[in-house]
Amino acid sequence: MTEIDTEAPVCVTGASGYIAGWIVRYLLEAGHTVHATVRNPAKPSAVAHLERIAAETPGTLHLFAADLNTPGSFDAAVAGCQLVMHTASPFVLSGYRDAESALVRPAVEGTRNVLAAVDRTSSVRRVVLTSSVAAVFGDNIDIRDTPAGVFTEAQWNASSSVRHNPYQYSKAAAERVAWDICARQDRWDLVAINPAMVFGPSLTASSQSGSIDTLVQLGDGRLRDGVPRLSMGVVDVRDVAQAHLLAGFRPDAEGRYILCAGTRTMLQMATNLRSRFGDRYRFPRRELPKSLVWLVGPLKGPVTRRFVTRNVGIPLRFDSGRSKALGIRYREPEKTIAEHFEQAVRDGLLSRDRRAAA
Ligand code: NAP
Repeated sequence: MTEIDTEAPVCVTGASGYIAGWIVRYLLEAGHTVHATVRNPAKPSAVAHLERIAAETPGTLHLFAADLNTPGSFDAAVAGCQLVMHTASPFVLSGYRDAESALVRPAVEGTRNVLAAVDRTSSVRRVVLTSSVAAVFGDNIDIRDTPAGVFTEAQWNASSSVRHNPYQYSKAAAERVAWDICARQDRWDLVAINPAMVFGPSLTASSQSGSIDTLVQLGDGRLRDGVPRLSMGVVDVRDVAQAHLLAGFRPDAEGRYILCAGTRTMLQMATNLRSRFGDRYRFPRRELPKSLVWLVGPLKGPVTRRFVTRNVGIPLRFDSGRSKALGIRYREPEKTIAEHFEQAVRDGLLSRDRRAAA
């Protein structure tokens, strides 16, 4: 049981991010002092929304510059905190050259750097790590190795590597490192949050989160010819943020928490969006045969044949019982996805030019 003094500042790493924005907002609304790390506090697109929220809420915001790749750079932000929420980690699914330097190193060495700062800071009692279901499984087919055909917190992703699903690998490796470091001491405890694919309104239009592009591509014409039968777990960004606060402040929070409101295929998501937004956007209308995706997928994008074989057409199930016991009441995925799409439209991410070019 870990009691956190609510008067002590709370450190949030990667505060400019999609998920972290909501965490910072809820902390400031509740009157906390937040030590928010960003790579560049002078970049308005990274911090303007946080400063605006701070001006409208009872809490206090302090910004700190820190980079996952720079040892020691989190020390100033962690100083005086009892609770550290480590969200910073690259979430990119394509567009990088070298997965090791773009994804794995910042995730793993960044976690080491943040936890080294925690180890050096005697005030810290708890770390909440933003992990992922990617640390639970790598490919949908991994569900066949589970005892009851459902992913629980007991599973670990053992199928990903730097070459195959490097993002998933980065999350599993970073979470393992965090548990190893935590086990070497007994002053602070670790709680891991393992969300499925996160959707829902963003407080910033500048996030590069893979969530946002996954949603936008359903409506911008890139998938107009059809989608693979790919299932994913879905959870609302506001529920993920609330889970961080519950995991941070509930004395009895412990271990890992899968967060998933339900699973949906890409076509189910697109059909939901068409029923609400009509034909203004070029939502896909059909699923492509797996054999076709296997054949042409690698030619059209970063999808590999190994990924297609091990994921397309294979349903997913998650046990989110532990997160419900923690206090999470999940929003309905259809509403989450629709609200997110509406906002992406408002932010100009589905502008007429982009649709015409698609
Ligand atoms: P995001 O908006 O891209 O946020 C990632 C944050 O990491 C950004 O604020 C970015 O800061 C920071 N970052 C990246 N590289 C960094 C570096 N070298 N040094 C310092 N900061 C760095 O993505 P998100 O979706 O909110 O993801 C946040 C966390 O949730 C990640 O750990 C991700 O793996 C996890 N997660 C996300 C999902 C999802 O579906 N979105 C699901 C499960 C888990 P800058 O502003 O400096 O770029």
